[in-house]
Amino acid sequence: MDMVNILIIEDEKDIVEAIEYNLKKEGFKVSHAYDGPTGLKLAKDKIPDLILLDLMLPDISGLDICKSLKKETRTANIPIIILTAKGTEADKIVGLELGADDYITKPFSMKELITRIRTILRRYGPAEKTSEKILKFDDLEINPDRHEVKVGTKNVELTAKEFALLEHLAKNPGRIYRREGLLDTVWGIEVAIETRTVDVHILRLREKLGKAGKHLQTLRGVGYKFV
Ligand code: CA
Repeated sequence: MDMVNILIIEDEKDIVEAIEYNLKKEGFKVSHAYDGPTGLKLAKDKIPDLILLDLMLPDISGLDICKSLKKETRTANIPIIILTAKGTEADKIVGLELGADDYITKPFSMKELITRIRTILRRYGPAEKTSEKILKFDDLEINPDRHEVKVGTKNVELTAKEFALLEHLAKNPGRIYRREGLLDTVWGIEVAIETRTVDVHILRLREKLGKAGKHLQTLRGVGYKFV
């Protein structure tokens, strides 16, 4: 298997060292930049498999880096995990709106960071092709091929949209989906419907799934994620 390249853009050297040490131990290839311009250059030159991006950088802000990467075709698809300090809630949401895949609040555990990285890489990586496989979470079973959902041994009857929504969320556990994004993917951008539609469907899904409804988590003001 090819080594996965991860780029860290973060001005706090202690944090960079700690992340680098732990990621290398996990078998990742790691490079780093302590400032925005260097980070941006490395990202464009090397096209890493994933970027860990600090928002509070001395020169260019992390948000501007994110914007700049998402604008260019070559770098637009590099997954980004934002590293934020507590109390920068607004920036975090802007980051997600700009196309970052996830965020993690400092201080974070390395174990959690690595889990998030693996989740995102799985989504982007070749393993993603095996989407026909049955998704299983505790006693919740989703069969994308047959459009079937089971909780325990019981079949759950879902509408096409409810199924699509559940399947979409469950394929990337832990990933945060904004309601607008879900509308685009599940309903299609051409449909002029409100984000409340997503809420209503989630509510109904939760009811129908019963105990397994706990997998659908609300991130107030942001969207939803499957846990
Ligand atoms: Ca910083």
